[in-house]
Amino acid sequence: MRAMILEQPGTLLKSVQLPDPEPGQGQVQVAISACGVCRTDLHVIDGDLTEPKLPIIPGHEIVGTVTALGAGVDDFKIGVRIGIPWLGHSCGCCSYCKSGAENLCDEPGFTGYQIDGGYADMTVADARYCFPLQGEFSDAEAAPLLCAGLIGYRSLVMAGNDSKRLGIYGFGAAAHIVAQVARYQNREIYAFTSPGDDAAQSFARDMGAVWAGDSNSAAPCELDAAIIFAPVGALVPAALRAVRKGGIVVCGGIHMSDIPGFPYGILWGERVLRSVANLTRQDAIDFLALAPKIPVQTHIEEYPLEQANEALDALRSGKLTGAAVLRP
Ligand SMILES: [Zn+2]
Ligand SMILES: [Zn+2]
Repeated sequence: MRAMILEQPGTLLKSVQLPDPEPGQGQVQVAISACGVCRTDLHVIDGDLTEPKLPIIPGHEIVGTVTALGAGVDDFKIGVRIGIPWLGHSCGCCSYCKSGAENLCDEPGFTGYQIDGGYADMTVADARYCFPLQGEFSDAEAAPLLCAGLIGYRSLVMAGNDSKRLGIYGFGAAAHIVAQVARYQNREIYAFTSPGDDAAQSFARDMGAVWAGDSNSAAPCELDAAIIFAPVGALVPAALRAVRKGGIVVCGGIHMSDIPGFPYGILWGERVLRSVANLTRQDAIDFLALAPKIPVQTHIEEYPLEQANEALDALRSGKLTGAAVLRP
């Protein structure tokens, strides 16, 4: 198989040929047709996340077709289209797994981090953490649903069902999907982008935002909740200032720069500040059932697999509108 591998954090991915992976007990073998490029991949490659298996094949928004079944796999047939997300393994026996919070598992395995991922033309995955992909989406269009969509959806749920006026800080892959779900739920989106990023603000309006502006400007009205997707700690006090008493601020990213000190007064009034970590399989079941009903339309820029480094650079420098997707 062909793959792009990371040998050491802080270096470019290398194109390599590897033996085809054989499906072990409980695994499916998958011919990959598309893999989304997520900001978390950047955090793995840049070394912000410090526990990767090395070398590692990054990528956890994988769409492909089942080509072989390991022993004991009954849920999938050969030829079925499936998606493989970030949560690749959980222990099933820690207190978190037992209480329905497998996203917080003490012994997890994450795709493209501890488990080889989708920057390749083939992979194997634990069938229990794979999902059939229905809907009219092309394979490339479906890829961003697997993380930007899933984690974005979990963030939206955490922002509260009665949060009508919703701020979104950072308008990239996750935000453009969340905005469509939120609009479907009759919420109003207020989009905050890097100051002066007119392209992102106009993209946000196209995606249904009622207002889009600079992240250093005040919100045009009091918000019920806010989700921060940009990995910028300074946005936390900004978002706390924008939400009403009892409002919720959700940090949706896996990594963020340090949060500056802020006066207690902006948290006072029972405002809630929380993070969202990973996903549960139930999140995937819920969101992948909802997405075709809306239907979510993902905006993607396709790159050949061998141009993974270029796609990552485009994400890092904020040049993307929507999501980058690699095609083997
Ligand atoms: Zn566990
Ligand atoms: Zn991701």
